Amino acid sequence: MPPMSRLLGIFRVSLIAFCCMPALLACSEQLFHTRFSTIHYAQDKELSDLVWRISGRTIDGKGDTDMVRSRVDEIVERVEGLLGMYPNALHVDLYLEPKYLGGDIAQYSRDKKCITVAVDRVTDGVLAHEIAHAVINSYFQVPPPKKVQEILAQYVDRQLWSE
Ligand SMILES: [Zn+2]
Repeated sequence: MPPMSRLLGIFRVSLIAFCCMPALLACSEQLFHTRFSTIHYAQDKELSDLVWRISGRTIDGKGDTDMVRSRVDEIVERVEGLLGMYPNALHVDLYLEPKYLGGDIAQYSRDKKCITVAVDRVTDGVLAHEIAHAVINSYFQVPPPKKVQEILAQYVDRQLWSE
């Protein structure tokens, strides 16, 4: 019988495999494109909640799309600047979940190159942290160890608007 830690590992991997494909999105997915990302969501409210949480500004139900685009791309550019890493053709799929259901508020999957965020809990710092993982993994052919990535991502989160 495999040790418990290995069983937990298998469980975790299967969770991550599903994390970027929320079941709710499967039948009613909408897409929104920014320079660096494709945002996947089901309801316009998720997009407006995201903008509210990462910028403190409101958009109407139909969406002031320029606001979404500029804020997400602004955070990506800020992350790149803080890390001094500008990977070619950086593209991130960003999946919005309407409600936080426990566990991580946001998560990056290296295999699928995507970020999942709970829009009722995410902050600009949390999003920047996950974008930092995406930038680091795109920049290096062989990504640095998890612990190094985590230190860099935490630095980005803390310093986001400090300079
Ligand atoms: Zn992290």
